[in-house]
Amino acid sequence: MIPFVDLKQQYTANQAAYEQAMREVCMDASYILGPQVARFEQHFAEFLGVAHAIGVASGSDALRMSCQVLGLGPGDEVLIPVNTFIATASAVHEASATPVPVDIDAVTFHMDLNAAEQRVTENTKAIIPVHLYGQAVDMSAVKAFAVRHRLLIIEDACQAHGAKWENARAGAFGAAGCFSFYPVKNLGGFGDGGMIVTNQEAHAHRLRLMRNYGSVEKYVHEVSGTNSRLDSIQAAVLDVKLNSLDAWNQKRFQAACRYSELLAEVDEVTPPAFDAHRAARHVFHLYVIQCERRKELVAWLTEQGTQTGIHYPVPIHLHPAYRHLGSGPGSYPVAESQAKRILSLPMFPEITEEQIETVVRAIKGFYARRTA
Ligand SMILES: *Cc1c(COP(=O)(O)O)cnc(C)c1O
Repeated sequence: MIPFVDLKQQYTANQAAYEQAMREVCMDASYILGPQVARFEQHFAEFLGVAHAIGVASGSDALRMSCQVLGLGPGDEVLIPVNTFIATASAVHEASATPVPVDIDAVTFHMDLNAAEQRVTENTKAIIPVHLYGQAVDMSAVKAFAVRHRLLIIEDACQAHGAKWENARAGAFGAAGCFSFYPVKNLGGFGDGGMIVTNQEAHAHRLRLMRNYGSVEKYVHEVSGTNSRLDSIQAAVLDVKLNSLDAWNQKRFQAACRYSELLAEVDEVTPPAFDAHRAARHVFHLYVIQCERRKELVAWLTEQGTQTGIHYPVPIHLHPAYRHLGSGPGSYPVAESQAKRILSLPMFPEITEEQIETVVRAIKGFYARRTA
């Protein structure tokens, strides 16, 4: 049995440190916005090389509150890639702005900036590049695009903790960078959590108010806010895990290299495109192949004991929730055709060479059987 991810191994490998960290929170009963949150925010900001990090309740909240703090609202259009997790779109929508999906590049799976040109209107105010699957977006190109069209950049780095574009980390380029600590992410807590990073003091200050009912001090509300805080217990655990993040990402990268080496022999499979000489550019939150006869392959792999996933089976515009955006089937040809071919293979830092070989052997077996 080869699981898609294996969180238990990560826990048992460093169990004493996690439990000690959680015990400390319980001992001083600092459950909400305690010193553990401030410490982790500080460490996360240092890790990313940014001035401020603000812990919030989830990656979705990080995206929504970033839109709000940057003043996006009714009538404002925000460019997003059409193949992403639904939260990228819903966060914009929840901030009362309009998500404008853009087709993706067939090779990188990132937003296609040529296609984005066609979607810019006088109402376009921001662009959300998504560092999808853990691969850093070409931020030089996004920055040039944003300058040309006078757009704000909000990075969705929810799958790319630690990834680098040139010399800076994903999340450190935009007006705001957003992270999720959902358990299976590259840096995952023991529950929900999120973070916004920014270099702008005024935004950081306002976000700290917004996440805590807008209060400056108890019962003094300067701005309208909400309840979206990172739990101290999550911060304490994440602070321990942050020390291992680069090493874990390195292991994911090595696993990806091994998969790609073995899969090069399979004609029916296209491994992900990435630069094998720049380890940090892709932190492989997911290892996504393109394949023929996916449905049958998935059934075969399941039967053989290998779990797989699809990220994502339905592009944003084809969900009932976003039908009002007015684009039906055929509107985003690249994303729509890729959605039928993509398949995510088991990927986690602890995956063994043997497990990778077993997965690839099963894939080879499937195509050999069918062509024989
Ligand atoms: C996980 C994820 C989110 C949302 O994060 P939550 O913490 O689950 O709210 C947003 N965007 C992308 C690309 C994600 O992978």
